[in-house]
Amino acid sequence: NKLSPVPLVAPAARKSRQARVVWGDRVVAVGGDAPVRIQSMTNTDTVDAIETAIQVKELAQAGSEMVRITVNTPEAAAAVPYIREQLDRMGENVPLVGDFHYNGHRLLTEFPDCAKALSKYRINPGNVGKGDKKDKQFGQMIEAAIQYDKAVRIGVNWGSLDQELLAELMDENSHRSAPWDGRQVMYEALITSAISSAQRAEQMGLDGNQIILSCKVSGVQDLIAVYRGLSARCDYALHLGLTEAGMGTKGTVASAAALSILLQEGIGDTIRVSLTPQPGEARTQEVVVASEILQALGMRSFVPSVTACPGCGRTTSTTFQELAKDIDEHLRSQMPVWRVKYPGVEKMKVAVMGCIVNGPGESKHADIGISLPGTGESPAAPVFIDGEKAMTLRGDRIAQEFHDIVQAYVER
Ligand code: SF4
Repeated sequence: NKLSPVPLVAPAARKSRQARVVWGDRVVAVGGDAPVRIQSMTNTDTVDAIETAIQVKELAQAGSEMVRITVNTPEAAAAVPYIREQLDRMGENVPLVGDFHYNGHRLLTEFPDCAKALSKYRINPGNVGKGDKKDKQFGQMIEAAIQYDKAVRIGVNWGSLDQELLAELMDENSHRSAPWDGRQVMYEALITSAISSAQRAEQMGLDGNQIILSCKVSGVQDLIAVYRGLSARCDYALHLGLTEAGMGTKGTVASAAALSILLQEGIGDTIRVSLTPQPGEARTQEVVVASEILQALGMRSFVPSVTACPGCGRTTSTTFQELAKDIDEHLRSQMPVWRVKYPGVEKMKVAVMGCIVNGPGESKHADIGISLPGTGESPAAPVFIDGEKAMTLRGDRIAQEFHDIVQAYVER
């Protein structure tokens, strides 16, 4: 029998327009042939410019390629240019995105320095005003984007959906039978609100390439359904995120599940993982999770990956777990320098394995790997470099010696 090869399915490519989010010399292209971008948001009071600038820098250093800050009051709008100035002084040119709700039209009009210091405006069409005021207030924000040449994200969220539009669509679709139900109408309202707002902005003169859309919901299956619909009906760049994903493992897993399916289908040009930090957890954790999702899918590389086995009854010591953790932390901590000094190092693969069952095999698949001795095995740890057995480590300095070998490999 002739066997046919098992195909490797690469992520699909959706053709989207390309937006440019710019600050000074830094241009973050979103959509088109650009890599999927990572973004995050501060949780400081924007009025506290120093605290906010420090957190923006932390998020940027963790890998956030744009950082959103809330601009909710005149005081916050007044603080934005100062935050930008602080960042520039620190040598941090990450673009800032202003998050506007309810009063964005006034803030962008009355605080031109704020409008200039931001690189992108996030506009929520669900709360730009009601009735006759809606078009006018939305128009004022678009005018600011045109005047200052800024990108815009039209970000719909089902927690703040345009209620007039929803009521209208409910009414229009009340005669339809299954599968049309309240949920279907909600999906339709999210997609319609985003696309019709984008079209209105284009009619006002905003360059369509500078528009990014999002329709965030908090359920995994809902998000997949909505974004499939949204991506099929437009070619705007899309910002992807499971809103209010939650805390810890739940939020991480739900975000990874939803985003991975859509990204594999080519849907999503920029992502945010919205994690609620647990007490004591760093705000940067959501950036780490977003990076890991893209790296696990093979879409981007940020840090060398460390493959480690889970351990089992064949290895009773925790040496390999400690070594895996130690190597992983070391590689991550070195990346700000290594990224510049050793381009391509982020694609490196290291294996730290607990015994000879899968140890040598997995080590050979990595650039550099070690198989620590399991229970009953001779106290020797073969090291593999570029698929070949290079040496065997023995004694109680195995961890330190492997550390040095990894360092030498990177430098070489
Ligand atoms: Fe267990 Fe060895 Fe497999 Fe690790 S490599 S899980 S120690 S059998």
